[in-house]
Amino acid sequence: MAIHSNPAGSTADRSFKGTVRALLTDMVWALKLTWSTSARLVVGVTLFTVLRGLMPAGLALAARGLINALVGTMHRKSDDFSILLPWLLLGFGLAIVQAVSDMSNRYLTQRLSDELNLTITTDILSHAATLDVAFFEDHRFHDVMERAKQNTAQHFAQFLITILGTFNSVIQMVSLLAILVVTEPFILLVLAPVAIPFLIFQLRLSKVRYLKEQSRTTKRRWTNYFVRLLTGPHLAAEVKLLDLAPLLTDRYRTLMTEFRDQDHELHRRSFVAGSWFVVLSTVAFYATFAWVVVRAFRGAVTVGDVAIFAGAASGLRSSLVNVILSMSSAVEHALYVSNLQEFLSIKPRIQYASGLIPASSRGEIECRNVFFTYPGTERTVLSDISFQIKPGEAVALVGENGAGKTTLAKLIARLYDPDKGSITFDGIDLRDVSAAYLHSQLAFVFQGFARYEATAADNIAYGDWRRLLLDRDAVEQVARHAKVEEMIEEMPQSYDTMLGRAFGEYELSAGQWQKIAVARAFARNASLLILDEPTASLDARAEYELFSRFRELLKGRTTILISHRFSTVSMADRILVLDQGRLIEQGTHRELLAQHGHYATLYDLHGRQMSSPPPE
Ligand code: ADP
Repeated sequence: MAIHSNPAGSTADRSFKGTVRALLTDMVWALKLTWSTSARLVVGVTLFTVLRGLMPAGLALAARGLINALVGTMHRKSDDFSILLPWLLLGFGLAIVQAVSDMSNRYLTQRLSDELNLTITTDILSHAATLDVAFFEDHRFHDVMERAKQNTAQHFAQFLITILGTFNSVIQMVSLLAILVVTEPFILLVLAPVAIPFLIFQLRLSKVRYLKEQSRTTKRRWTNYFVRLLTGPHLAAEVKLLDLAPLLTDRYRTLMTEFRDQDHELHRRSFVAGSWFVVLSTVAFYATFAWVVVRAFRGAVTVGDVAIFAGAASGLRSSLVNVILSMSSAVEHALYVSNLQEFLSIKPRIQYASGLIPASSRGEIECRNVFFTYPGTERTVLSDISFQIKPGEAVALVGENGAGKTTLAKLIARLYDPDKGSITFDGIDLRDVSAAYLHSQLAFVFQGFARYEATAADNIAYGDWRRLLLDRDAVEQVARHAKVEEMIEEMPQSYDTMLGRAFGEYELSAGQWQKIAVARAFARNASLLILDEPTASLDARAEYELFSRFRELLKGRTTILISHRFSTVSMADRILVLDQGRLIEQGTHRELLAQHGHYATLYDLHGRQMSSPPPE
């Protein structure tokens, strides 16, 4: 299976330079996505970020001007307050701008992250809907999917916020540094040896943290699985009666403890390095500050310069810490962004490229030399299958478990493409038939049919929701046809009864659910009906009721029926017998019995089972 990684690649085994390059690629991709989500908000946020970034330096300069003016006034023993006024007003104005840009930035960032949340979560769902069934069955894809789902929208928004935060801190840092360097260039010399190693350490740590999380994906899926087993409704009874809770909880705890211990170690390393940095940078700043004070004492710099140095130095220290921390957290979030990219770049194998529509919809199927192996597996499940089904014909697929019946039905529904050979629908290769057309012509009841948490009416309407969701009369007509009308009318709120126990109060038996699934299949005006064990959960009476009307219900539709019940199978016009992925016999029930082949053997076994007395 082709799970394409993103062009920037997954960030797993990468050098430091490679990480920075990937970070930039991710940043460009993320910014494009953000821009397309809301260009106005991006412009607003950027504008206020720049403003916020410049304010500390502006305020420091205003303070310097004020102090120098004040010292000058005092020297001159003048009482002309008007010299100070412009500086005071400037400081006041800048403080207001700073406060307003802080608030506006927070508000716009919040809005942008809400927009992104919506866009990304819906993008993930829409993209998942385009992917083939084969992807959902492949555990490697589950890991990619799990990673894409892991709070990706939040990570994405956080990525942008940290990028903006870094941008803001860099502007602050550069502008404050410019002021400080003018006063005392020495500061660069003492600061660089402390800050640069800390920056590299933080970036490395973020990468380690991400790789740890990445390597946990499968284990995380296990923990989620244990939680589902222990808290989900479907297996509650079995888990309780087998007393599996202590065992499952213990397995869950083992994995979570492993995660906790790894995190503990990372936090410790971060704490130790952070503490060193804080102490050393404080020493560096104070040493430089002391030097500036000495120079002021000798008259080399002004009192205003000392004041600005004190203010700007503490601002610089905090913006330096912010730059380093937000860069490292941007790296971490960017790695999650690359997960999203990886997921969104997966292309469905099944492409509906040409989109042809047959001249008439008759429901004619032809398989020519079809071979098939499930993606990601080795064993050939279908070998050299060839047959034709005429329009309106009812064909049963018979064979032992694992013979390939369901697989063949899935290939006809184009849930997979054959590896070799072709399947045509009304004379056109399935690969060329339009997706919308094929789906509109197909009705089905699969073995693992859905039990929708929805009203009884909607459970049927989902069969053709665009037509039926708002047309109760049509739904009732389908229910009458499928013989579920009486069952539904006996429910507490009739067609409005909410089925299932997750949101509703009315649970159905397996057989009742199956009847609803059959009704849903009949709701479609399809020319081809695929029924995979449609009566497996039905009792004899229900099956009899359904099949006594079978002919009428299926009238004009081509039907492919998979069943282990010979009473059902014998009603088909033709029976195809599969054995280990090969088509070995075909004919009517009578013809096949007369052949005394595989079908006859299966029939005899079935008959003997039904008539043999129960074991002593
Ligand atoms: P039948 O419907 O005749 O009981 P299936 O078509 O379900 O048989 O299965 C045929 C073979 O394909 C079996 O050996 C089964 O293990 C394998 N198989 C079925 N589904 C999958 C799948 N999703 N992935 C891999 N192998 C599968």
